[in-house]
Amino acid sequence: MEITIDGRTCKARPGQTVLQVARENGIYIPSLCYHPRTGRAGRCRACVVEVEGMQGLKESCALDVKEGMAVRTDTRAVTAVRRMVVELLLADGQHQCIACQANGHCELQDMAYRLGIERPSLRLASEPEPLDESSEGIVRDPNKCVQCGRCVNACNNTVMHEVLDFAWRSGHAKVVCDDDKPMGESSCVQCGECVQVCPVGALVFKPAKGRGRWWETEKKTVICPYCGVGCSIDMHVKDGRYLWAMATEDNWEKLPGQGMLCVKGRFGLEFLNSPDRLTSPLIRRNGNLEPASWDEALDLVAKRLKEIKGKHGPGAIGCFASAKVTNEENFAMMRFARAVVGTNNVDHCARLCHASTVAGLATTLGSGAMTNTMQEAAKSEVILLTGTNTTWCHPVFGGLIKQAVRKHGVKLIVVDPREIDLAKIAHLHIRQKNGSDVAWLMGMQHVIVREGWHKLDYINERCEGWEEYRKSLEFYTPEKVEELSGIPKERLYEAARLFATAKRAAIYFSMGITQSSHGVDNVKACANLAMITGNLGVEGGGINPLRGQSNVQGACDMGALPNVFSGYQAVTDETVRRKFAARWGVKPEAMDAKVGLTVTTMIEGCGESIKAAYIMGENPMVSDPNLNHVETQLKKLDFLVVQDIFPTETARMADVVLPGMTFAEKTGCYTNTERRVQLGRAALTPPPGPKQDSEIIAEIARRIGAADFPSTPESLFAEIRDLTPSYHGITYERMEKECGLRWPCPSEDHPGTPILHIGKFARGKGLLSPIAYRPPAEEPDDQYPMRLSTGRILQHYHTGSMSRRAPVLDGLVPHGMVEIHPNDASRLKVKEGEKVRVLTRRGTIETQALVTDRVAEGSLFIPFHFAEAAANRLTIDALDPVAKIPEYKVCAARVEKAAPGGCDDCPKEAAS
Ligand code: SF4
Ligand code: SF4
Ligand code: SF4
Repeated sequence: MEITIDGRTCKARPGQTVLQVARENGIYIPSLCYHPRTGRAGRCRACVVEVEGMQGLKESCALDVKEGMAVRTDTRAVTAVRRMVVELLLADGQHQCIACQANGHCELQDMAYRLGIERPSLRLASEPEPLDESSEGIVRDPNKCVQCGRCVNACNNTVMHEVLDFAWRSGHAKVVCDDDKPMGESSCVQCGECVQVCPVGALVFKPAKGRGRWWETEKKTVICPYCGVGCSIDMHVKDGRYLWAMATEDNWEKLPGQGMLCVKGRFGLEFLNSPDRLTSPLIRRNGNLEPASWDEALDLVAKRLKEIKGKHGPGAIGCFASAKVTNEENFAMMRFARAVVGTNNVDHCARLCHASTVAGLATTLGSGAMTNTMQEAAKSEVILLTGTNTTWCHPVFGGLIKQAVRKHGVKLIVVDPREIDLAKIAHLHIRQKNGSDVAWLMGMQHVIVREGWHKLDYINERCEGWEEYRKSLEFYTPEKVEELSGIPKERLYEAARLFATAKRAAIYFSMGITQSSHGVDNVKACANLAMITGNLGVEGGGINPLRGQSNVQGACDMGALPNVFSGYQAVTDETVRRKFAARWGVKPEAMDAKVGLTVTTMIEGCGESIKAAYIMGENPMVSDPNLNHVETQLKKLDFLVVQDIFPTETARMADVVLPGMTFAEKTGCYTNTERRVQLGRAALTPPPGPKQDSEIIAEIARRIGAADFPSTPESLFAEIRDLTPSYHGITYERMEKECGLRWPCPSEDHPGTPILHIGKFARGKGLLSPIAYRPPAEEPDDQYPMRLSTGRILQHYHTGSMSRRAPVLDGLVPHGMVEIHPNDASRLKVKEGEKVRVLTRRGTIETQALVTDRVAEGSLFIPFHFAEAAANRLTIDALDPVAKIPEYKVCAARVEKAAPGGCDDCPKEAAS
């Protein structure tokens, strides 16, 4: 339709407001309460307009367009109201723009400037209120608050944290946290969304204060380096230094994070300014790591790798790629291992998080990735969420799930031993015993088939293995499942009914399912459930493993795995080997034809089959299970090279340390959890010293004899496209223009594939798997009577090498803890905050008790980010027989009050 604004004809769409049409057409209408992401509000009256044929002034943010509407934004009446709004706000608050952090980025200041109001013509006598500086990352200044409600709206309806609200009445009305607590004592999770939308300086980022004004900064868009959601961040940079982070708002509806960030994306980038950065290569001399030139270090690495290859063969070298570096760099490491060293011993930390997903889904469906998109959560009728504490581990997606439940009526089933945040809004929360997932998943399927809720037509047409699978369900009677998992049979029935009778039901899972000695069985059981209910290949359905790190999907796609080249092309297939060999200019016979060793089996082989390891961007000395054993194994190596940005616990054990660049200093692409390949552009100039990881790999390769090894992101991406059919149609230009593309994208005119397996599974027929129940590798007993589980917390990330160097994150949670149920705490006479020892058969750590009923009685939970209280000194290194993933999620443990001064067994090393 068409409307006119100030005499200009403007195109408009039904459902738009006058304000939106004006903004699309570059016509200035001020507004304080409306924001594109918080929507219409109609509170501040700054956006009033006159409309021909309508009485009085209308709020343009709440006025729907109608064909032929004639709008005026510039009449005397409109201007008079705007002046009054601005004057009252300025008169009622305490505004000194000169020192305000919002100066130059303030919509009230803009309005006053445009209206020529230097100072208000009246003064309302209100006493200044104290600032709220109680939280780590945000300063609240009630004196500058214009009560527009954007922050309240954003907190409650966008990020769904439900902290902010209006309280009190009339002249005393104000925005409060919870029931008027200081922000630092409230339930605020410091996501910063309220600051992002605040139109004035009432909410500002504490670390930004005094470090730069808005007009002094450059805006550089990057991909968040933390979890697999892949949120887009506008970094504000001054003099080459990172200052603060805003969520990208351009095209926000098309972005994975929908214009939101969590506390890690918001405050976690400060590690970019850390003085701990490795800036020079280091070589171990006389037992100490000492600075060396790049030539010395690279020559030494090449020489030692050549020697070890010559003496023990290529299989004596292990290469560790990384879920934190770009696709191009992972491809380079994979190419180095296979074409230069001549081994398939290349792997990365997906082995420790989603190897069972890749193995389980590739076997059953033909593709190991998330089948649907995060945005589809709102289109499901039912979501089954298990083994994922989404609001902590994939926080922005956790917000999208909350939106799906609260705004779109999606029914949520949470199956998790802990009372996670999302359990509070679930229709059904079921607490199973750790490690009993096959039992309850197959038990649900037993009920579904017994009740006839399965989709037999879909199964007959699209799946195979039905009869054998159906027989295996007989074991999983609700009574048996109750005995194995502790789930009452009525609740199992209810979960089965809800899931199977929904038109579109999606499964989301993460490491609670995969990090198990029967992780592949768990994943296959999820795939069975999705198949028999006809939920694959449909919008709002699917089986969706949430990938933990920013590029763990990409590292897998790039073939940083011992069994496949990029695009999951098998190393055992001669045609595939020949294709890669031809492109890389090596003899096919020089390529390893057998599947290589995994991260876990390489560590196990140290000193025996493995003599040298080249580790890029990984820290097994904190991330791997049974750390005491890992340390012993790494010490057995003849040669260890570590390439990283910080001196990690693993780097401290190396013979040579090579300094790499951070995500913000290099170009390259990352693939998020929903297979979306996004381009990251260099935003900062690196300090002198570090090199891009692909350049380092290429330098070593050239010294070993591969003269034309590519080093630039562009040349590597060209190879990726040539050799990887699912990435063939993706280009840097398209990624930028189209906000990323989801593979498979076989040609440049292909739009990408949001939903996999439509009409047909990637492997042809979906494979229904019969699954026999196996208990966890270690059950509680008299000596170790409790069940220990490990995982992440919201404020920290992985081995802490980045998040613990971000002061806001470290300030929020400065040390580790063990979650213990109040009844267990009282039995053990342990108080909140008290030092305790946690013991397993592998080791002992000392940490603080967090007494909470978030864990079930008899269970413990320890985050694994804290090297000084490393949970992985306790975990068991029992592996899934197929995926070789360790059982991080359950082992037997005991808690004791700590002896004063600590215990003899406790590791004494400092935090990273
Ligand atoms: S909030 Fe805006 S108007 Fe108030 S002092 Fe800051 S910049 Fe000036
Ligand atoms: S930081 Fe996030 S959780 Fe805290 S008040 Fe603001 S929007 Fe709400
Ligand atoms: S949800 Fe994940 S990708 Fe998004 S800001 Fe948080 S850590 Fe970064």
